[in-house]
Amino acid sequence: MNETRKLFVKSFGCQMNVYDSRRMADTLAPQGYVETTTADDADLVILNTCHIREKAAEKVYSELGRVRRLKEAAAADGRRVVIAVAGCVAQAEGEEIIRRAPAVDLVFGPQSYHRLPQLLARAERGDKPVDTEFPLDDKFDHLAAPSTAAIRARGVSGFVTVQEGCDKFCTFCVVPYTRGAEVSRPVDKILFEVEQLAGAGVREITLIGQNVNAYHGGGPDGEPSSLAQLLERASVIGGIERLRYTTSHPRDMDDDLIAAHGDLPKLMPQLHLPVQSGSDRILAAMNRRHTRADYLAIVSRLRAARPDLALTSDFIVGFPGETEADFAETLSLVGAVGFSGAFSFKYSPRPGTPGADLPDQVDEETKSERLSRLQAAIDRCQAEFNRSCLGRTFDVLFEKRGRYDGQVVGRSPYLQPVQVTAPAAMIGEIAAVTITEVASNSLFGTLARALTREPSLVGPGA
Ligand code: SF4
Repeated sequence: MNETRKLFVKSFGCQMNVYDSRRMADTLAPQGYVETTTADDADLVILNTCHIREKAAEKVYSELGRVRRLKEAAAADGRRVVIAVAGCVAQAEGEEIIRRAPAVDLVFGPQSYHRLPQLLARAERGDKPVDTEFPLDDKFDHLAAPSTAAIRARGVSGFVTVQEGCDKFCTFCVVPYTRGAEVSRPVDKILFEVEQLAGAGVREITLIGQNVNAYHGGGPDGEPSSLAQLLERASVIGGIERLRYTTSHPRDMDDDLIAAHGDLPKLMPQLHLPVQSGSDRILAAMNRRHTRADYLAIVSRLRAARPDLALTSDFIVGFPGETEADFAETLSLVGAVGFSGAFSFKYSPRPGTPGADLPDQVDEETKSERLSRLQAAIDRCQAEFNRSCLGRTFDVLFEKRGRYDGQVVGRSPYLQPVQVTAPAAMIGEIAAVTITEVASNSLFGTLARALTREPSLVGPGA
């Protein structure tokens, strides 16, 4: 029997990293590792890093300085702490991490975390393993399944990775280099994982992938399945009431997927569809391989299929060569679509990407000024969308206790947080809520009618 040791995983970045962190914890559970919420008393600290945002590597090195001090303090008490760096910064930096931060015991990329027990054993023997290979075998085949208790502790909304990597090579992005080529998981393995989550009380599943709608995993008949077909199959699994998927590329919004937004009642009316810029010149320089008109045409087809669809997006301002006229096109696109929210960032060059070598880099002051104008425009759209919810009644899936006693927080179909005065036994339930008040980032409401079913003892509040 393994002795119990404490594991702390800190996830940076996107939902894919959160999912990966959970699967790492599941893989280490049979070795006796239990998760803890703080690095202070952990025996193993994993930093699961992200390379998308600015100064990602610097942030990791500064976090490593903090963890090194914890390791030194533990050593003074005669306790060994192992430090691991995982994820996309690990993939990109490799050996360099151990050279710059000698307190690190092991480094492994996103395609290697199923080998974590072996890597850890080597680290404990005093090696400093670095594993950033892209293996030929499917890491998902080697991962331990989460226990029912672990699934329940993570809440009523679950994530399942359906594909990884990307072949699009946008000129600003490191993903094709750090996550590798696009690979889709087979349908049956995904559905098995969804069934497991449903069996443990999960009510909402988000299918995730760096380029999720490029999904083409093998179906039971041996033929590739589209994301729309996969969603349809997932929608008939008992217990699953809501489906979402993220993150999508406009070029992969095929007819079937657009139709699914009208045909599948469990597919929630919210879609994150990054556009990055409203200028055709900049979209071409970014190698997005779609135009502004293409994007608007997709939006109007989606809204024809599902009129109440809420759209969110990603924007980059100050891409090399972006003029004020290009930026004005981006601002006008925000107004034309009427996004319910969006993430927006200043362009920052990623070493090794084509964008980093482009001439006409935009100065920081201009980027900051454009970003604040863009964010003001997005905030106006978001406020308008939230205001349009006032007085409406829709189903909310309750996820956790609210900030105040007697309050629970859930998600609307459009993914907004909704705060309601209701008992904690509602967590895990879906109930109709009438929206009585809106704030910039969340909604407030009251229960509109009786529950869709009796509260169960499932979910984190139970
Ligand atoms: S489609 Fe997304 S993940 Fe792929 S290269 Fe472009 S931004 Fe990166």
